[in-house]
Amino acid sequence: MKITKRNFLKNSAVTALTFGSSSALTPVRAAPTEAPHVWDEEFDMVIIGAGGGGLMAAHYAQELGLKAVVLEKLQFVGGSSALCGGSISVANTLPQQEKGIEDSDELFVAEMLKVGKNKNDPALVEAHVKSIRKVFDFIYGTLGAKPDTIRAVSGMSVPRAHLYYPPSKLIQKIYNYVKDRQKVPFYFQCPAKRLIWQNGRISGVLAQKNGKPFYVKANKGVLIATGGFQYNKSLMAKYNPLMAKVTPAGGKGSTGDGLLMAQAYGADVLDTNYIKATFGYQRTSHPNSLHAYYMGSIIVNHSGERFVDESISYKLLSDAALGQPDDFTFQLFDEKVRREMSAQAKRFAEILDVDELKAGKDTPYCFCGQTIEEVAKKAGVDPERLKATVTQYNSDVEKGLDSQFGRSSLTSGYGKMKKIDTPPFFLYPSVPRCIATYCGVKIDPYARVIDVFGAPIPGLYACGEVTGGVHGAAYMTGTAFGKAFSFGRLAALNISKNNL
Ligand SMILES: Cc1cc2nc3c(=O)[nH]c(=O)nc-3n(C[C@H](O)[C@H](O)[C@H](O)COP(=O)(O)OP(=O)(O)OC[C@H]3O[C@@H](n4cnc5c(N)ncnc54)[C@H](O)[C@@H]3O)c2cc1C
Repeated sequence: MKITKRNFLKNSAVTALTFGSSSALTPVRAAPTEAPHVWDEEFDMVIIGAGGGGLMAAHYAQELGLKAVVLEKLQFVGGSSALCGGSISVANTLPQQEKGIEDSDELFVAEMLKVGKNKNDPALVEAHVKSIRKVFDFIYGTLGAKPDTIRAVSGMSVPRAHLYYPPSKLIQKIYNYVKDRQKVPFYFQCPAKRLIWQNGRISGVLAQKNGKPFYVKANKGVLIATGGFQYNKSLMAKYNPLMAKVTPAGGKGSTGDGLLMAQAYGADVLDTNYIKATFGYQRTSHPNSLHAYYMGSIIVNHSGERFVDESISYKLLSDAALGQPDDFTFQLFDEKVRREMSAQAKRFAEILDVDELKAGKDTPYCFCGQTIEEVAKKAGVDPERLKATVTQYNSDVEKGLDSQFGRSSLTSGYGKMKKIDTPPFFLYPSVPRCIATYCGVKIDPYARVIDVFGAPIPGLYACGEVTGGVHGAAYMTGTAFGKAFSFGRLAALNISKNNL
């Protein structure tokens, strides 16, 4: 019998490739997927996912002369990267220097390890810090994309988070740049289903195109850039049952496909026990998060009581908020913080620099009052208790140390605490949401995927949110968007060197 792809699929001997009966053509087993006799297309590098990581890898692949393709399961590029807060942390940049901010790679590495409670891999952190500066040179220098501002956010002692808002604009710029050079095709609605093993290495991808199996050969390497898995309920429940009650956010493609495909070939996984939500989201309609606590707000529960040192990472703030009755809390701030935040960044101005709040009126997502008691009553918070909490906090601010929770700064040692004393006062209802999973396949500083025995899986690379080991126990703002870019670059670099 002549072996055509059709026969190959029909052949019952091909047990490793058992497709489901549905039109989705989803293979149902984790056994190694064998190569077809006829490949549909052939490239040096196959990139799975067109988020920040996949796009940056595509850019460097074409710069390095690799023949690459991007497979994207949705109809558009961007993933979570296009929806994120837009912070990219980089040390020692030109924009920092222009603002007189002293920073260094060494300080950045030390602070990432501190935030990660030394559970992160120092070699990965160092590789990230070096690589992200090269990527920043491309973004800032070649693309001419200037950050709106540079902020000190969770875990950093100097302003290092370069804010690009909206991030979709930056993603579009990168995509346009890659597309304009016309060297890397993008296949949309083309989900990767399985990795293919041939001659002792990952040699391609079985995807689905136009409802049919689509075999793409990768002569040098396959890069998994599929993002996180916050929309995969069973994976979330497996790794962190607490997250089951938290609403996910981010790219709808974040269903853990790449993580599972790599695990089918023995990939090790790291940091799954540190999945955390992010504090500061609206329970209702407004999609943006607000971090007024890093600008001077306090966080209170329905009883009007504080329950945490607000200067710690917003991931740890989420853990604390999830322990409150109803998992529902509020950021309390005054008019001076509202103004400062509005001036600081467009994305905060969209929430706070609106006519109603400026006129001292409520919005559907924020309560407003001329006194602490008034705003408390509107929000259903205990007014007497809230008044007492603010009085105590303001007196502690005068002394420079929070007597309840030991807060001594706005964020991680940076910035002085502020009294809440300038009307009107605002209560912003806030909940944690799981925006990213920050954990996943183990990689080395060359972006190679490492198996459970500690060896690289030949031909397989990963970058971005699907990877573990960079953040450890907690993440520093701007290093997740950043690590998608930095390891996307490293993957292309090492694939071009045939670094198996
Ligand atoms: C609201 C929000 C705010 C955030 N703020 C910040 C921030 O300010 N700074 C920061 O550092 N991080 C932030 N993050 C996290 C950060 O945005 C992500 O970790 C990072 O952008 C992920 O990039 P990625 O390329 O790995 O994945 P993504 O950008 O999610 O891209 C993955 C792509 O792969 C595609 N895909 C998935 N499965 C398949 C498949 N089987 N076949 C083909 N394609 C597939 C997806 O559709 C998607 O397009 C935020 C995230 C969110 C959601």
